[in-house]
Amino acid sequence: MPVKVKLLRYTNDAELLCGAAALTSTRSGTPSEILRKLDPETARQVIKRVTGYGHGSVIEHASFTFSIEGVSRAMTHQLVRHRIASYTQQSQRYVAYDMLESYVTPPSIENDGEAKKLYDQALASISRVYEALLKMKIPKEDARFILPNAAKTNIIVTMNARELRHFFNLRCCARAQWEMREVATEMLRQAKKAAPALFENAGPTCVELGYCVEGKMKPAECNLEEIRQRFKKL
Ligand SMILES: Cc1cc2nc3c(=O)[nH]c(=O)nc-3n(C[C@H](O)[C@H](O)[C@H](O)COP(=O)(O)OP(=O)(O)OC[C@H]3O[C@@H](n4cnc5c(N)ncnc54)[C@H](O)[C@@H]3O)c2cc1C
Repeated sequence: MPVKVKLLRYTNDAELLCGAAALTSTRSGTPSEILRKLDPETARQVIKRVTGYGHGSVIEHASFTFSIEGVSRAMTHQLVRHRIASYTQQSQRYVAYDMLESYVTPPSIENDGEAKKLYDQALASISRVYEALLKMKIPKEDARFILPNAAKTNIIVTMNARELRHFFNLRCCARAQWEMREVATEMLRQAKKAAPALFENAGPTCVELGYCVEGKMKPAECNLEEIRQRFKKL
């Protein structure tokens, strides 16, 4: 199933704004004057230089809002662990579980006939009981107790560019769960298109640092050069 991620809105002139923020610390003019006079190429160079010193706060001035659609509750439970962000998620108290659009199937199950049969049977059974509970006038907020991690959901998330880069470090990594990784990688692709200077060299930690920090947990299949090339082309 292709992930559905849409970059809905982002800060106007995000690179100019962050460049002006960076220059505010070293120039005598006001932020508004600096912003008015700043050209895109200078802004890009300044962002690169200042974030290279580790002053990541200058890119906190740019925010990005994504719609993440039809993903599992298992995925959003991980997403909302990232605290420097704003979220609004579809409520299972108000919106009934949709029998037709109901659940996400992991590829490992989708590609295994026997596992898929068992999985679909279990999910169909949950759906039947859920419907029956609603017909018995059990409130949605109680009927939802039987819904699985696989249940589909929609969520809107806003993060600033610094938090997004941190999020990409952790969640574009091969160690991240597959659905989380797909969503994070698509968010990076769209954010990078909108503001390339803010997301230059962004991706899993190995892409930024040039080495893996996972130690013994490093997945055997990881090939640093291949990963770097893949994220460079995003
Ligand atoms: C591969 C993987 C496996 C994981 N497995 C588990 C697991 O088994 N169990 C589990 O519970 N979680 C797990 N997590 C979630 C993980 O522990 C973090 O909760 C999650 O990734 C959010 O990251 P964060 O805390 O760095 O960042 P964010 O919440 O995105 O915050 C960004 C940064 O802000 C700073 N910050 C934010 N809040 C505070 C604070 N209160 N105090 C000090 N500094 C703060 C930190 O520097 C932090 O890195 C896993 C994550 C990954 C990527």
